[in-house]
Amino acid sequence: MQKNSRSLKDHVAIVTGASSGIGLAVAEALAGAGAALVANFHSHGDAANELVERVTAQGGRAIAVQADVSEESEVLRLFDAAVKHFGRVDVLVSNSGIQKDAPVADMSLDDWNAVIGINLTGQFLCAREAVRRFRAQPSEKRPSRSAGTIIAMSSVHEIIPWAGHINYASAKGGLRMLVQSLAQEVAGDGIRVNAIAPGAIRTPINKDAWDSEEALTKLLRLIPYGRIGEPEDVARAAVWLASDEADYITGTTLFVDGGMSLYPEFRDNG
Ligand code: NAD
Repeated sequence: MQKNSRSLKDHVAIVTGASSGIGLAVAEALAGAGAALVANFHSHGDAANELVERVTAQGGRAIAVQADVSEESEVLRLFDAAVKHFGRVDVLVSNSGIQKDAPVADMSLDDWNAVIGINLTGQFLCAREAVRRFRAQPSEKRPSRSAGTIIAMSSVHEIIPWAGHINYASAKGGLRMLVQSLAQEVAGDGIRVNAIAPGAIRTPINKDAWDSEEALTKLLRLIPYGRIGEPEDVARAAVWLASDEADYITGTTLFVDGGMSLYPEFRDNG
């Protein structure tokens, strides 16, 4: 019988920002596919601990690790915890991200630096550490065809400009080039690096855009598929991209956006 190539059995997966929204759904889905889970959280320790309890109650393996992804020493500690508990790392889903929105003239340097620090520098720190660990692991012990895989949580704003959010759009645009350049650099090591670009997904980060009838109607004009996305839409894509079913895929961005990046203004003939 052929091995289920979407299974993540014997894999160890780190998910950053796993205590809410997309990260929480991705973490549950990876654990559901058989991975041992390292659920990073920054705040909401209770939600991370409840996640660990749910996974272990279902026979899975999971730990929660508090760390700030924009701090080098904390990222190293996160990976150390993964290796200490589970012996290796195979999958990184670097999902953490924040928004601090303002028109450019009102945007403080602190808010610029905070968003770049978490959404871009945090991605660099996590990806660099993943590459180091993947390279150090003996190839005969690999649970997958690749030597390891990195999935960066990007956004449709890696390609769609976003007035009033230049810190966020700059970080996600930079992330697109980080993913492609890194994928090129480490493909020879058997490491795959990809991004997922969610459109509008119902999570705390964009609550203002969906929690009233009026806001949701406005938002839906931007989504040709006609519904807001749910965290599970992204989670299913992440499991597939992490698995051997996606083994020949590297350096690409998978858009999970109901068509938001398809220039919806042109759908009625422009
Ligand atoms: P969210 O606010 O629920 O999740 C963000 C997570 O990042 C939280 O768990 C938070 O604790 C964590 N985080 C924040 N600062 C951190 C730090 N310093 N260190 C570690 N973790 C930190 O929002 P979400 O929508 O689930 O966002 C997850 C990712 O998806 C983000 O990168 C976001 O940019 C991206 N995204 C979301 C949408 C959407 O519509 N929700 C669309 C496109 C992209």
